[in-house]
Amino acid sequence: MLLHVGIDDTDSPKGGCTTYIAATLIQKFVKMGVRFADYPILLRLNPNAPWKTRGNGAICLRIEFDDELEFKIKKTIIEEVEKQADFNCDNTNPGIVFHKGSIPEEMEYFSKKVVQTIVKLEEAEELINKFCCNAIGFKNRRGLIGALAAIGGTLKEDHTFELLTYRLPQYRGKKRILDKKSVFEMDKLETETFNNIDYDTNQILIAPRGPDPVLYGIRGETAESVFNGFKIVKPIEPVECWIIYRSNQGTDQHIEKKYKISELKEFNPATIHAKILKMPWIILGGHVIFKIYDDTGEIDCSVYEPSGKFREIIRELRPEDEVIVSGSIKKIEESLTVNVEKIEILNLVDIMKLSNPKCPKCGSATESMGIGQGLRCKKCGYRDLTLTKNIEKVDRKIKVKTYLPPPRAERHLTKPLKRYGIEKKLFNELLFQPWHS
Ligand code: ATP
Repeated sequence: MLLHVGIDDTDSPKGGCTTYIAATLIQKFVKMGVRFADYPILLRLNPNAPWKTRGNGAICLRIEFDDELEFKIKKTIIEEVEKQADFNCDNTNPGIVFHKGSIPEEMEYFSKKVVQTIVKLEEAEELINKFCCNAIGFKNRRGLIGALAAIGGTLKEDHTFELLTYRLPQYRGKKRILDKKSVFEMDKLETETFNNIDYDTNQILIAPRGPDPVLYGIRGETAESVFNGFKIVKPIEPVECWIIYRSNQGTDQHIEKKYKISELKEFNPATIHAKILKMPWIILGGHVIFKIYDDTGEIDCSVYEPSGKFREIIRELRPEDEVIVSGSIKKIEESLTVNVEKIEILNLVDIMKLSNPKCPKCGSATESMGIGQGLRCKKCGYRDLTLTKNIEKVDRKIKVKTYLPPPRAERHLTKPLKRYGIEKKLFNELLFQPWHS
């Protein structure tokens, strides 16, 4: 039997992690002789969902086993969720979904919808009733949305990998310490991994902060690359276990859809083809705002202070520059704003500047003597009524290309520049060994 198990919404700001439930279950399933039809899926859902704890991730295990094991396997899963989920937290509403056999297109479509928009619980429940064999929604049952989305996340096309390592219980909540040099070395040697380090600040990006059991994670193009990276990184504490997940991280899946400005909705990520309406300006806190327009309306775009040098790029935009802006739509004082995650500059307008010509006699700078009075050399005093100002093209400091915020400010789903042009078209179903331990 092929069973897909989706799990979501088990952790709270105090601790836990849905991926750790997957890690625990994988260890138990291995002992039970269960086979894995795919790597475990770590699906990042809409990064703007208001109920998320951290990265809005859900997981799916696609497992194969003899029919008589079905009851034992389902029982193991339910017991593990009941054991690890933080039921005391108001915002923790776990969901488990079981689905047998192949994945219908409707479930794949639903999965994308959860990554790209906000969906209602009823929509998830309707699909579960139509296709799935069982589901358990705890408390307000919201976790069913993410659990079903993870099952539908077949990632047949573009996908990446992440190797997550977990901490022993006695270390959780304490500061994570990694040998910094080993992370730099890994980044240099394993060129297929990404977002390990922010080179603007020399910040290590592979270790999260907070009380969850993850020690560090290495993201990369292939399972082999993240495994090789894992062999290089030296943590200062023991690793309890590690798992390689297949994921939509780093694929831009959330901003795939293009919208007109009039179609934008709060909480939805979006991509908008527009022109700059107003020169960018800075507000308190160092955030940069600019206005864009298309044939359906106009909207403010914000680039926040943590985006660092990305703000300098944005400040060089000028009215009528043509751009494709991607980001999430937020409501600020009843108006919608785009929180910019990426900008593709399609066309930069020519900006002209008037300048005084050089003195034809001595080559020094000239100055204007007033309207209709010509120019005078500042050095030798030469005057000429016929001399006119030069018209010069201003050198634009930005180029026609795609710009992203620095890796430390990127979303899990944002596609790093290094992945452009190497997006995957299919999934090689032969699993790399080892993918867990
Ligand atoms: P965890 O590691 O436990 O998964 P998290 O940061 O990923 O933490 P959750 O605790 O899972 O966030 O909370 C997200 C909740 O929001 C889940 O109940 C999920 O089903 C729901 N959710 C996620 N995306 C959407 C969406 N697009 N529309 C509606 N509900 C969503």
